[in-house]
Amino acid sequence: MIRFEGVTKRYGDSSGGSGGPGSVAVDDLTLEAPTGRITVLVGPSGCGKTTTLRMVNRMITPTSGTISIDGRDTSTLDVAELRRGIGYVIQHAGLFPHRTVLDNVTTVPRLLGTGKAAARSRAMELIERVGLDPAMASRYPAQLSGGQQQRVGVARALAADPPVMLMDEPFSAVDPVVREQLQNEFLRLQSELGKTILFVTHDIDEAVKLGDQVAVLRVGGVLAQLDSPARLLADPVDDFVAGFVGRDRGYRALGFAAAPELTLADEPTVRLGARADDVRAVGTPWVLCVDDAGEPLGWVRAAAVETEVTRTLLHRGGTVASTSGSLRALLDAALSSPSGRGVVADDDGRLVGTIRAAEVIPAIEARRDQAASAERPTERLAERLAERPAERPAERPAERPTERPTERPAEGATTR
Ligand code: ADP
Ligand code: MG
Repeated sequence: MIRFEGVTKRYGDSSGGSGGPGSVAVDDLTLEAPTGRITVLVGPSGCGKTTTLRMVNRMITPTSGTISIDGRDTSTLDVAELRRGIGYVIQHAGLFPHRTVLDNVTTVPRLLGTGKAAARSRAMELIERVGLDPAMASRYPAQLSGGQQQRVGVARALAADPPVMLMDEPFSAVDPVVREQLQNEFLRLQSELGKTILFVTHDIDEAVKLGDQVAVLRVGGVLAQLDSPARLLADPVDDFVAGFVGRDRGYRALGFAAAPELTLADEPTVRLGARADDVRAVGTPWVLCVDDAGEPLGWVRAAAVETEVTRTLLHRGGTVASTSGSLRALLDAALSSPSGRGVVADDDGRLVGTIRAAEVIPAIEARRDQAASAERPTERLAERLAERPAERPAERPAERPTERPTERPAEGATTR
């Protein structure tokens, strides 16, 4: 666990300066980043995110307050030792331009004394794990796309297997499609690695997607709200957070609500090549077409089939929700379906049935009461600080990950 306790950073405050009080970049920050979880710091430009991150690995020294990792005050540790346990990823990856991808990834382990062969095989494993073609290992950073460079940056930070990762807007410089891929891969990787991560972004959508908990900072470095993504969307503490969290909060919050078990309607289906008469015999204006494995391909308008169902006749607008997905995906499947019947598939992608928006809404309403009883991390931390006057870190029991108010559902609907 990384713990900030009353941490303040004031710039331009040193003697011989202008004599003013200096500008406060981070103001009395108290925050815990739980072990094995992703804590996202989000806020507008200049609100102190980078300063906060860099105080953890002591690239910046706090003016006051303490930062501890697993109960050890970082200011008492040897800097080299401290940084060995911390991976650091920045925007534009910050790769060494004159070293190959492989050499970039092996740099730190080699400095730490890992043998060449061992460092190389570990690097090759990581290069694949972050989703890069092993053939890229011999390339130079300039020969990679922005997204590929960021992947190398992540692999490099993971090379020495640090328990803690600091990530400063690592995906901000790539285009939205690549960013989404990187985010998904990052979540997959984290589910395997379970690092303690402090992740900085100015993008609230990225924050709620990646964070187990999200800390919203306002300019002046003041913590405005610390909460789970779902709570942040459901209950912003003030106008600043509400404005920052943005539009469609109610709908976006459904992305964190696992779809309950709902009764799905059986949906008659046809295959590609089905004859016009057979399609019309189904008796509904829109008919669902599936492949031989039972995976939905798209809706076809019965009246539009002249001889047989072909791919070009398929309507592509509908999304497919998964039985293990979110309420948002379920509602979206219903809303995007030309028939009004949302397509639901199992985890293997096979059709299970369909559901209408009017049948999803009651499930959404039923959730409202449960959500209201969820705890706030901010309050929990404040309470615990209050009731712990003389703490002896070495004797503290092993850290347990914080509980999530709701399970993060599997990735949402897939657009067909
Ligand atoms: P963010 O990463 O959220 O954009 P930063 O942590 O980089 O914000 O900066 C927070 C505030 O501190 C800003 O007002 C910035 O101008 C100021 N600041 C950052 N670094 C320095 C510095 N080395 N000297 C003086 N002011 C700084
Ligand atoms: Mg910054």
